[in-house]
Amino acid sequence: MSNYNNISKAYLYAEKEPTAAQMEGFVKFLSGKYEREISVQWVKSREFPGGFRLEVGNDVYDWSKEGKFEQLREKLSYLAKHSDDVIPLMKETVHSWTPSAIAREVGTVLTVGDGIATVEGLENATYGEILIFTDGIRGMVMELRRDEVGCILFSEESPILEGSSVYRTGKTAGIPVGDNFVGRVINPLGEPIDERGPIEAKEYYSIEHPAPGIIARQSVNRPLETGILAIDSMFPIGRGQRELIIGDRQTGKTAIALDTITNQKGKDVICIYVAIGQKASSIAQMVNNLRNKGAMDYTIIVNASASDAAPIQYIAPYAGCSLAEYFMNNGQDVLIIYDDLSKHAIAYRSLSLLLDRSPGREAYPGDVFYLHSRLLERAAQLSDEYGGGSITALPIVETQAGDVSAYIPTNIISITDGQIFLESGLFFEGQRPAVNVGLSVSRVGGDAQTKAMKKATGTLRLDLAQFREMEVFTQFSSDLDDSTKNQLLYGKGLMRVLRQKQYSPYSGAEEVILLVCALGRLFIPIPEKEINKVSEEILNYFKKNRPDLSDRINGSDTLSDELRKEIIDTASEYLAKRK
Ligand code: ATP
Ligand code: MG
Repeated sequence: MSNYNNISKAYLYAEKEPTAAQMEGFVKFLSGKYEREISVQWVKSREFPGGFRLEVGNDVYDWSKEGKFEQLREKLSYLAKHSDDVIPLMKETVHSWTPSAIAREVGTVLTVGDGIATVEGLENATYGEILIFTDGIRGMVMELRRDEVGCILFSEESPILEGSSVYRTGKTAGIPVGDNFVGRVINPLGEPIDERGPIEAKEYYSIEHPAPGIIARQSVNRPLETGILAIDSMFPIGRGQRELIIGDRQTGKTAIALDTITNQKGKDVICIYVAIGQKASSIAQMVNNLRNKGAMDYTIIVNASASDAAPIQYIAPYAGCSLAEYFMNNGQDVLIIYDDLSKHAIAYRSLSLLLDRSPGREAYPGDVFYLHSRLLERAAQLSDEYGGGSITALPIVETQAGDVSAYIPTNIISITDGQIFLESGLFFEGQRPAVNVGLSVSRVGGDAQTKAMKKATGTLRLDLAQFREMEVFTQFSSDLDDSTKNQLLYGKGLMRVLRQKQYSPYSGAEEVILLVCALGRLFIPIPEKEINKVSEEILNYFKKNRPDLSDRINGSDTLSDELRKEIIDTASEYLAKRK
């Protein structure tokens, strides 16, 4: 048996801690094999459900399900060929089977620090491969050079010493996935951090995965309703789309994402919120909010907080996306939010600088475009042959002083299918959500809008653009003719209707009703300040007196003139009563 003579310690990767008797068995097995004392250390790992893996230096004994099956299959096919009476022999084989070793490379740590280690002697290591250091600490290969590899570490590096051994695993970094993750808060390694006990995983997905190809996709044509009137009417998002939410700090970016999650209640959409570099306390509060709204029943939070090491923050969105792919591959619709990719890029920049890569524009490494393009390309609407599942991605990017032409914002704008631009000026005026209608766009969503909504939206964008222009020109003139005054009141009314409180999404039918009323100029006589109150009252009036109208809006393919007239009449009837 080939092995390095200096190795006296074996690592046992298993989910459950072995009993003393089992431990003794392992020690005995190893001492027999290597003819010397070898101690065994247990490393908790969910990678081998129902099995384990024993690593002694570069020898690996794979008793995971896959390893067992692989070796048994060889034996059984041999037996089946050579014996008539297979069953008793099979039984005997299963009982007497001992795993055989697979040779693995061993390297040596050259330098370690700041979450980075360089290792020499791993000639065949591949990009993204997991390496195992002292005490079972894991790292991932990020940089391949001639004589050494650069590696990021997934936990505190303190026990790792220069000169200590490093083992290849031949596996790429991955995350356990499964239905049981729904409702949980996890870290990017898939470990629960919400004190609700362990999570039983179904499968193990690599965190880096090629995006679905053209054949596997179909066009985006089903709506993903955000419940936010300003977005669903003018910048509709389809399932499988990637829509960027961009704006300065504190402009309500996260609020839009959370509203969209709450609006998915009962719509059979799994939501995944990936928090990158945020305060742990704000995440805790957010989880509480979502739980109170009943939204955690279909939501997973992947949290890499500001205090986590840069490598953990770096892998977070990929890990979240792998989880999303698990559900998509099972034919489900998934909404994933990356909050936010600016902080992700910053984490990647610090890693790259520590790995000695040369800095480029804004000190980001040259491949920072690929960093996000390979992530966002994984969002897709799969074709029916592939199960028809989808991943809709809402990445969030923070700008400085509204500058969308900075490096990271321009990159991500060019990758996504549109952006919702939030403006701090609007936000402080009280226009919330602070969507800048002129700079926002959705490049595919129109196809995904329901016909009724499309018809109801009508000329809204155009009217708002005209209003903005007129507002600027009429700012300084005192006497305006009546038609201009009316036009201004109409525009102000539209802006007011688009204001919406947090955590109060509208249903599709409610959005249509409000749009028909606003574009039907019903709000012109109403004082500006009262418009939000009145629109709420109108919706209540419809709910109470004309529930049939909502059903008809939902049911009808398109908004007929007749239906539109009925909506206007009902609303006018209420407004007349109100006076
Ligand atoms: P950060 O840059 O810190 O991540 P952000 O852009 O994500 O901020 P939020 O945290 O979503 O912004 O919102 C900032 C504040 O504005 C929060 O206190 C939130 O409650 C409030 N807010 C957001 N949207 C609305 C809204 N539609 N109506 C009222 N308040 C809102
Ligand atoms: Mg935020």
